[in-house]
Amino acid sequence: MIAYLEHFVHENETDTIPDTYSRNDDAALLCTDMDIQGSIDYGSPTTSLAAKDFGGIQAAKPSAVVRPAGADDISRVVKFASRSGTMTVAARGNGHSINGQAMSDGGLVVDMRSMDSSIDVVRLHSGDVVVDVGGGALWEDVLRRCVLGYGLAPRSWTDYLRLTVGGTLSNAGVSGQAFRYGPQTANVTELEVVTGKGDTLKCSESQNSELFFAVLGGLGQFGIITRARVLLQPAPDKVRWIRVVYADFDEFTRDAESLLTLPEGEDSSFDYVEGFAFANSDDLVNGWPSVPLDPNQSFDPTLKPCSAGPVLYCLEVALHYRNVDRRSTVDRVVERLLGRLSYCEGLEYQVEVSYMEFLLRVKHAEQQAKANGIWDAPHPWLNLFVSKTDIASFDRLVFQKILKRGIGGPMLVYPLLRSKWDDRTSVVLPEGDIFYIVALLRFSLPYPEGPPVEEMISQNREIIQTCTKCGLGLKLYLPHYTSEDDWKQHFGNEWTRFVERKARFDPMAILAPGQKIFPRRNRQSS
Ligand code: FAD
Repeated sequence: MIAYLEHFVHENETDTIPDTYSRNDDAALLCTDMDIQGSIDYGSPTTSLAAKDFGGIQAAKPSAVVRPAGADDISRVVKFASRSGTMTVAARGNGHSINGQAMSDGGLVVDMRSMDSSIDVVRLHSGDVVVDVGGGALWEDVLRRCVLGYGLAPRSWTDYLRLTVGGTLSNAGVSGQAFRYGPQTANVTELEVVTGKGDTLKCSESQNSELFFAVLGGLGQFGIITRARVLLQPAPDKVRWIRVVYADFDEFTRDAESLLTLPEGEDSSFDYVEGFAFANSDDLVNGWPSVPLDPNQSFDPTLKPCSAGPVLYCLEVALHYRNVDRRSTVDRVVERLLGRLSYCEGLEYQVEVSYMEFLLRVKHAEQQAKANGIWDAPHPWLNLFVSKTDIASFDRLVFQKILKRGIGGPMLVYPLLRSKWDDRTSVVLPEGDIFYIVALLRFSLPYPEGPPVEEMISQNREIIQTCTKCGLGLKLYLPHYTSEDDWKQHFGNEWTRFVERKARFDPMAILAPGQKIFPRRNRQSS
């Protein structure tokens, strides 16, 4: 692979590199040379903060943290790094990665949150309305600006919105709207990107299209997203948020999949489809009490069939509507749509919330988790895409055996349609028209009150090994590997394209070193 990349580094690009720069050089000296409008911090606590992430498992301290004033600054930083044989640059969104993906050990971290994050709504010639937003803006801010200012909203979200636009577009961005609109990466019309060569380029499906598709789901490998244009649609006022419970996994998946293909249109299907598995027990966090949507609701275990196994399943759906819609009309639509489903009678929960409340629902969980200390504890999360053909085996081997007591947090499982994902992006998916996202979102108190983090990591490993041994078709979402062989296997047939894109847009492998895909190319070795 290195030999392949070498081919793309031209003589004149290496001519000006001073021999003396190395990662151990005084960062202050290096940074003076950058000549940027923003600021640079090379002392604690800023660098210590950039050495950590939400996962709380890895740590890698950068030499300095750059707060760019704009794309020009980022371009200068990347060009500066390219003059060294070892310097790397990691864009840091909100640092909500699990495995150090936004870190740069001894290199430079670009704090995207500090960049201009103006959020403008624009009507394009095509008639589409988009939000033009900085790569470091939080989706939560995009929501507030678009809904409160214009009555508009992006079509596809993540469950939690304190993530940056650039951070989720570098992965995919998946939530319960993705079955209809695809992931967030499928809802972008244009990007502004600073490549690993330091070039600032606009790209879209029709302009610099290879860069556009490379960057979407590209794990930060090809460029730093400084702006994005995201499609908008009219925002609803309200949401009927519903959960129904299943004892049988086949019935759960049959119903969930049936909702994906209902014709789109007013009242003909739900606007959001997700689901999760939970322990068939009275455990407060992992069991029945995790299902009701409102403190006034309760889970009556006598309503589940005697045949129920150690794990139950909850289908979570939502219907959008406007303030002008009559309650009785909404009731009728919900009744008709739920009437198609075969969940356990009586195990059904509904609440009405505003659209903003619905999209900010994880924020409340965040506040509670912060109060009881589990937000800042380590989070060895595991996210997978599992093919439809193997999801029943996954249930049998993983949910019903390895995870039957739960994980101290949500175990999401819901289907997605491959046709809504653009295979020109860098995201890799398992085979088949339908696949499932499985998100094992572990929340535990720090050891000794909670389990040792090594135990949780080893359980994740056991899950992967079990699935691999049984030949289950799956791909890691938000992948984390450390060896080239594992990355090759992850990308499969797309590996060659990924390597070619790297060679073209970041030939010295300066960007996103925390993903541990490509070693920094030292010009000395050419
Ligand atoms: P960071 O962790 O800061 O960065 C992630 C990667 O992207 C790094 O490699 C970084 O270098 C690169 N990067 C960051 N910014 C840019 C940029 N502007 N340009 C290019 N590369 C960049 N994901 C979902 O899909 N759906 C969910 O519902 C969901 N919910 C989540 C809930 C929580 C509580 C958490 C912690 C994570 C969740 N995620 C979800 C995962 C999340 O989308 C990813 O971890 C995402 O990368 C985090 O965004 P960030 O802004 O914190 O990125």
